[in-house]
Amino acid sequence: MSQATDSLKNEILICHRCALAGSRNHVIFGEGNTDAEIFMIGEAPGREEDLLGRPFVGKSGQLLDKILDACGFNREEHVFISNIVKCRPPDNRVPTPQEAAACMPWLIRQIELVDPKIVIFLGATALKYLAGSNLRITRERGNWLLWQKRLAMPVYHPAALLRDPSLKRETWEDFKKIIYKYREVVDPHHYSAHI
Ligand code: SF4
Repeated sequence: MSQATDSLKNEILICHRCALAGSRNHVIFGEGNTDAEIFMIGEAPGREEDLLGRPFVGKSGQLLDKILDACGFNREEHVFISNIVKCRPPDNRVPTPQEAAACMPWLIRQIELVDPKIVIFLGATALKYLAGSNLRITRERGNWLLWQKRLAMPVYHPAALLRDPSLKRETWEDFKKIIYKYREVVDPHHYSAHI
């Protein structure tokens, strides 16, 4: 981890910019390679994440890891994962616009430091708060957007796939596009066992 990332992490870990600080066990900085070319953004930490201090470690996280594995990606090398807010909203509710706005500068600084070629919005909340409240995940998923001068793609959140497994087929089509794009802009020899 670079010195800049390390000092950003130290700042974030003591953040009290919004009310979520009052009920958290951990601030979830994020996880993965801080030089990754793919930056994934989910919604918010859940119960397991809050207890363990790591993002995407519950059932959604396990499914995300399976999808990444099918793509030939992993957290150690290819991706960095964070969320719209870094502290758990009570009862896993969706972060409010005020909470998202308070936490956004942290996320933007993280993205600037990681400097990825590809950004993935995991689900409706990330899409709404990052790209615009008029955008619908059902319409935008699988389409490349230009976001902050970076390639970005919205996909369904893994929790949505757990609720409705019929979405898995479309999601795999979206991740195939991400693999092709990774080969195009990062590594032409990137290996996936499936495509
Ligand atoms: S959610 Fe973000 S802004 Fe709110 S206290 Fe946690 S780190 Fe700070």
